[in-house]
Amino acid sequence: MTATKDVENTMPSYDPNNIFAKILRGELPAHKVHEDDKAFAFLDIMPRAPGHTLVIPKAPARTFLDIDPDDLAHLIKVTQMIARAAVKVFDADGLTIQQFNEAAGGQVVFHLHVHVMPRKNGVPLKPPASVKEDPTILSDQALRLAAALKGK
Ligand code: 5GP
Repeated sequence: MTATKDVENTMPSYDPNNIFAKILRGELPAHKVHEDDKAFAFLDIMPRAPGHTLVIPKAPARTFLDIDPDDLAHLIKVTQMIARAAVKVFDADGLTIQQFNEAAGGQVVFHLHVHVMPRKNGVPLKPPASVKEDPTILSDQALRLAAALKGK
């Protein structure tokens, strides 16, 4: 008989030294877009499109597999909130939402995150992690997104 695969003993465990955990603890800077008791959103430093935002749970989840379902539901609600604001702020024609799990699934930073990327007709995404954006541009974009989220 085949044993049922258990996420807890088939996947690597959470490493609290990952970059996003350090951002959550305030040990590394980030261009914050939103924060509440369970989620945090900030701009990707190597955006694939203007406004590329990462939405993460505060809970120490490595991937989609090990997060508590209630925290996941909250993460998705916040992702939709960010997505709606991003479409307005960046006057987007569309939106790409991506989420990767483990190296085999394309994940590079091992704290669960959802990518929100506003899209324009005919404009391709830049390759992942290709160009570091100017911090003054990221600051301005984060302020505009945060203001849109507050309905300003
Ligand atoms: P993944 O492939 O794990 O889904 O994507 C990780 C993302 O994190 C990439 O899009 C990359 O540009 C972004 N990233 C890597 N290091 C940092 C960092 O120090 N700060 C921010 N804000 N984003 C980062």
